[in-house]
Amino acid sequence: MKAPLVELASVTKTYGTLAALADADLRVRRGELLAIVGPSGSGKSTLLNIMGTLSRPTHGRVRIGGHAVEELGDRELSALRATHIGFVFQQFHLAPGVPALDSVADGLLYTGRPRALRRRLAERMLRRVGLGARLHHEPHQLSGGEKQRVAIARAVVGDPPLLLADEPTGALDSASGATVMELLHELHRAGTTVVIITHDRDIAAALPREVRIKDGRIEHDSSLEAVRA
Ligand code: ADP
Ligand code: MG
Repeated sequence: MKAPLVELASVTKTYGTLAALADADLRVRRGELLAIVGPSGSGKSTLLNIMGTLSRPTHGRVRIGGHAVEELGDRELSALRATHIGFVFQQFHLAPGVPALDSVADGLLYTGRPRALRRRLAERMLRRVGLGARLHHEPHQLSGGEKQRVAIARAVVGDPPLLLADEPTGALDSASGATVMELLHELHRAGTTVVIITHDRDIAAALPREVRIKDGRIEHDSSLEAVRA
């Protein structure tokens, strides 16, 4: 059987005496779409940052695409991230003054492709997310929903197998949020593995798998229900 795309085994992350994440086991197979839900401060972002190799665990093992993260140095880890993982955040993280096309093209810098090709691929991706008429708009000229679509285009323009989204609709009105969710579903249908942190029960309930976390502990994983029943 093919290795899971993401595998966490007994992962703990402590800050001083606080266990932000305690003894977490989680496997994500290729092609999954899942929600991570839980109250504020429960460890959702900590979990996502560890899955994304942005943060190293205090204890436990993490594998991404079969690569053992603890065996990789920081440079190798950056390379793994660049080729395997796209990130989307609640606050978009778009640089002020940078046009959409340039932001998205920057998502391909690591590929070493020539600038003209990067820009062509970025334009195609922006059209795909419905922003063909906003190529040269800067963040301050875009709505929240449009900014998030630029951020998603940047995250996936290099076609990473894994997309991690930390409350991607958290700063959006419900109509823009629905558009962003539809886009994430579409990327999933096209083959990307998508992990979405959300506060929104309706969003979580609409996804095939739900992982609930509380006080740093995974307390429910709907994919394990059949096993426990
Ligand atoms: P969530 O995303 O579910 O709101 P977080 O994963 O951001 O929760 O945080 C979980 C807990 O860990 C919180 O109590 C938070 O204050 C703490 N925490 C998160 N990051 C840090 C950090 N860099 N340093 C110290 N404490 C942190
Ligand atoms: Mg968070």
